[in-house]
Amino acid sequence: MHAEQTHRDRAFGFATRAIHYGQEPDATTGAVAPILSLATTYKQDGVNQPRGGFEYSRAQNPTRAQLETVLAGLENAEFANAFASGLAALAGLMSLFAPGDHIIAGDDLYGGTARYFDQVLSKYGIEFSYIDATNLDALERAIAPNTKLIYLESPTNPMLRLADIRAVSELAKRRNVLLAVDNTFATPYLQRPLELGADVVLHSSTKYLGGHSDIVGGALMTNRRDLYEKFQFHQKAVGAVPSPFDCWLLMRSIKTLALRMEKHCENALAVAQFLERSGAAKKVYYPGLPSNPFHELAKRQMPKGFGGMVSVDLGGRAEAEAFIKELRLFIFAESLGGVESLACFPWEMTHASVPIERRLKLGLTEGLIRLSVGIEDKEDLINELERALSAAQVAVAT
Ligand SMILES: *Cc1c(COP(=O)(O)O)cnc(C)c1O
Repeated sequence: MHAEQTHRDRAFGFATRAIHYGQEPDATTGAVAPILSLATTYKQDGVNQPRGGFEYSRAQNPTRAQLETVLAGLENAEFANAFASGLAALAGLMSLFAPGDHIIAGDDLYGGTARYFDQVLSKYGIEFSYIDATNLDALERAIAPNTKLIYLESPTNPMLRLADIRAVSELAKRRNVLLAVDNTFATPYLQRPLELGADVVLHSSTKYLGGHSDIVGGALMTNRRDLYEKFQFHQKAVGAVPSPFDCWLLMRSIKTLALRMEKHCENALAVAQFLERSGAAKKVYYPGLPSNPFHELAKRQMPKGFGGMVSVDLGGRAEAEAFIKELRLFIFAESLGGVESLACFPWEMTHASVPIERRLKLGLTEGLIRLSVGIEDKEDLINELERALSAAQVAVAT
């Protein structure tokens, strides 16, 4: 470090920022790890004289404030707000809108996001259109006078389709509409949507940021102070904030994010190549495969790697069930982004609440398995997948 550099220098590389940004040794004790501050209330020095901005822990807490600085550093954002879950962060984002507003959402969304839009917000008079975010013309045609937001995921869940974030952000700016990107799948290690022109980034930190399947959390990042202040108000007014311990645990996890992502990417690419080579799968979805229609965009938009998620269509439900039965290291479970490999059956699990018609249009069939490839030895993962693929083939042959 040069003498004039601080821990918050944006010029540091990603791995350095993940370890140091906002994580200076504690000013009073020199503690190298963050201080866990559990107090719910803070002594005030007089009327209207809170110390250091802290009054009551729902509104702000020192450990959460530190996490928010760390999260901002990861996305190269001015501001971040931490929430109790990814969906709580989404509720914070949606607090910007009022009855009569129209939102354009990608048509290939996390199931819980679509459920929140269709079954909760639609009751409050907010209108949604689901549009293929990979189709710029379709997005532009869907913009109406009351459209306030374009909301998309890239890569999407579970089909791993990519939207051109820079191109969508140019469209959004031209038509005076906000753009928010759910960056959960890519993580800021691989992709930083604010740098590509998005107004807000959302994370479920339950996934890769947490990375060990032991924290539920969420975050919003933005460079706009007006939006940040509205999210802060929502944290205080609605209260879906993370506990100090969850904040502390998340800072601990983020220190290894760069290392973990490198290994997730390496293993996922090996798994996708193996599945494609095997010829036993009907279709393999992974943006790192040259055969993938989003590969060129992925190389530009996610230059460091293609992520840890791979989806595979085995042809039918019988194949999928036989495949799942054979898995040991790949734990059959919802969620993703942890060090351990997981397999999920979106049709009956994560996407069961998405209308069947919308699922089939995307290619989300009863034969589709979504793999969250962990950081184990890739040879062990591939050996297991080889056995599971044979079991799937036997299942339909008999
Ligand atoms: C899990 C997930 C969410 C929701 O986050 P929670 O922490 O489970 O509330 C939102 N978006 C994506 C892409 C997710 O994977």
